[in-house]
Amino acid sequence: MRKFEDNLNLERREFIRLLAIGATGIFLSACGIDPDKNSTDTDQNEKPKPKKDSVPLSENKTDEPLISNENVTFIKKGDLQYEELRHGHNKRFNKFPAIIALCENEKGVVHAINYAKKNNLPVAVKSGGHSLEGLSANDGGMVINLSKFKTIEYLENDQINLGPASTLAELYATLLPEGKILPGGSCGGVAVAGLSLGGGYGMYARKWGLTCDHLLEVTMVDGKGNLVNSKDDPELLWACRGGGSGNFGVITSMKFQTHKAPATMTSHRFRKFKTSAEDAADLMSKWFDLTKDLPHSCFSVFIVSSKTCFILFTNFEKETEEVKNIVEQFSALTEKVSLGKPQKLESAVQNFYGVQTPVYAKNSSVGLYKDFEELRSFIIPTIEKIQNTPGMLLSIGTLGGKIDDAEFEKGSAFPHRKFHYLSELQTYWKKEEQGEKMINAYQEVRDIFQNNGIKREYFNYPDLGFKNWETAYYGENYSRLQQVKKKYDPENLIRHEQSIKLPS
Ligand SMILES: Cc1cc2nc3c(=O)[nH]c(=O)nc-3n(C[C@H](O)[C@H](O)[C@H](O)COP(=O)(O)OP(=O)(O)OC[C@H]3O[C@@H](n4cnc5c(N)ncnc54)[C@H](O)[C@@H]3O)c2cc1C
Repeated sequence: MRKFEDNLNLERREFIRLLAIGATGIFLSACGIDPDKNSTDTDQNEKPKPKKDSVPLSENKTDEPLISNENVTFIKKGDLQYEELRHGHNKRFNKFPAIIALCENEKGVVHAINYAKKNNLPVAVKSGGHSLEGLSANDGGMVINLSKFKTIEYLENDQINLGPASTLAELYATLLPEGKILPGGSCGGVAVAGLSLGGGYGMYARKWGLTCDHLLEVTMVDGKGNLVNSKDDPELLWACRGGGSGNFGVITSMKFQTHKAPATMTSHRFRKFKTSAEDAADLMSKWFDLTKDLPHSCFSVFIVSSKTCFILFTNFEKETEEVKNIVEQFSALTEKVSLGKPQKLESAVQNFYGVQTPVYAKNSSVGLYKDFEELRSFIIPTIEKIQNTPGMLLSIGTLGGKIDDAEFEKGSAFPHRKFHYLSELQTYWKKEEQGEKMINAYQEVRDIFQNNGIKREYFNYPDLGFKNWETAYYGENYSRLQQVKKKYDPENLIRHEQSIKLPS
């Protein structure tokens, strides 16, 4: 088993390089637009220094003595690491857990869960801390912090075991030089646990499926404090493929299938400036048409912001006549065209790692669609509002391809495979005091989508304000997920604002 630590230094150097050359692109869509870092920002890459027996027992208000050991450090307000560890990637959240359990291994997780159980503390689980709604933290409960679970173990048949907090940057930096890939998202700081437990889509998903479709086995400490493995229960594996985020237990290890990595990726960028809302909507509708039947090696995202309409188009196989034709059509429709050359995949992925320092943001899914028709009636006023709100953008990405596979559908709780487009509304700001205004603007736009009957949403882009979130995220699978919840966490110890509820 290998730790990812060696790759981290490389990743940081590379990230600094990317900032220096001002890399853009999908930064805009997925990973934040504010590369400024103020001195109080926490750095997600900094590794916490263990501090044993850090909790003054006199401050412990629960029945059970709170004693750290070699497997887990219990951290409370006032302790050295508390401030650093209570935050995630989104600075909008300011939660104060009673205890942060910084676990070293499975025994530490079992110890933490048993403590929480005895003392009736709700448990949130944190791997990479990138939840868009702060679902990996809580106020007054326990947060199980898995940031030390960053390992990779190579198995037979191109399979790997991963620690849940392994980030995509660590994973790509390790696997790609060895000619292997696990299809994931683009942002370097997102951890494999949250990504795959909620689905996991990116530039490779149309070719091979979602990250959760590659999940073969999970090891988990359940809400009863038992160490379980999905080998003994296929239903648990089904549930964890898209329905497992902070619901049933703490996933401590994940086995995945990898593929032979493509050697290169080519990305092209197209921009149109100062368009009217009508023109932007027209371009969007043409983008939908052109991306309807893309080859599975291709991915595209359409982004509309206050400044531009932007199209990213990527391909990691040979540029066929069909692909050349699509590129030509995008070129004809836009004003500024940046055509890329095939780039070694190892370095190409880094262009999309984005800003990994914390940002202020309010982002969420605003629907999964079959085609542009679902948007046509309300998209022009929506674009108008976005164009008048600097810091806000709407991105729509291509799903479809292998994601829409009957076997994958059967084997996972992810319910949206028939919908080949996923959209995300994103709003960023720099200073805390700008938040209220930006969130109000976000809310106005998001309401347009909900008021126009958009009902399907992606759990990994959550919003606490979604009506009927249970069916929006999980469709008809929700009640089946509730049975898994009942089996593994009958007292609802592991929970957050949108975790699966016990059946009534
Ligand atoms: C900048 C950015 C870029 C993104 N890009 C993409 C993308 O390209 N594609 C995509 O599909 N998604 C993307 N996302 C969404 C991302 O997949 C989710 O936010 C994901 O949940 C983050 O996982 P995490 O482990 O980093 O976060 P965390 O905040 O640690 O966890 C997220 C959720 O998973 C649960 N969880 C975490 N670890 C465990 C565990 N070990 N056991 C049980 N439950 C656990 C938490 O309780 C929480 O509900 C992006 C998000 C951000 C902020």
